[in-house]
Amino acid sequence: MTDPAFLALLHHARAERWCMDPYCTTCEPAEFREALATFAGEDRSRLVTALATMDLADWFDVHNADGAIRMSLGALGSLELVNVVLEAWLPRLGDQIRIADVVLNRVVRPRREALAVAERWIDAAADLAVRVEDPVLLEHLIFTLREDFVRRPDLVATARRLRKGAPALHKALQRLKSVPPSA
Ligand SMILES: [Zn+2]
Repeated sequence: MTDPAFLALLHHARAERWCMDPYCTTCEPAEFREALATFAGEDRSRLVTALATMDLADWFDVHNADGAIRMSLGALGSLELVNVVLEAWLPRLGDQIRIADVVLNRVVRPRREALAVAERWIDAAADLAVRVEDPVLLEHLIFTLREDFVRRPDLVATARRLRKGAPALHKALQRLKSVPPSA
């Protein structure tokens, strides 16, 4: 269950339409950032616990789950704490495609070497992409795995099946030069 105080913070952010674009250039997304810092406290342990124990579906209570996740993980202030939270999320990821995707794309890929959980997150995202057949997640897995993408026949087969209706995925597959010809 999500810490009620943290859930209240998310609901307040939605009600006030706080900006949740971490790199917004038109407004400084200070309100949500400051609220997270206040919530986290000096050692950030309160935020670590709230995020680690969160019901992941509650991210969609805010108007910008993507930005809220990125800013909340950013408010932890260290990769070590981000790793603690992602370790806690991994077994509870279920079919949360968008959460798997935003973490893969915005958190794990840019810090793949530094995050202990990275390879397991990528594997979980790959399993989910095959199971749910999600073209966006597959596209982002191509960007993440690059030539290693073709080492997973299940990923390649799923991507091939979906590419016709998904131009971005089609393009990503095309750029992947080493993709073997259709069997
Ligand atoms: Zn903004």
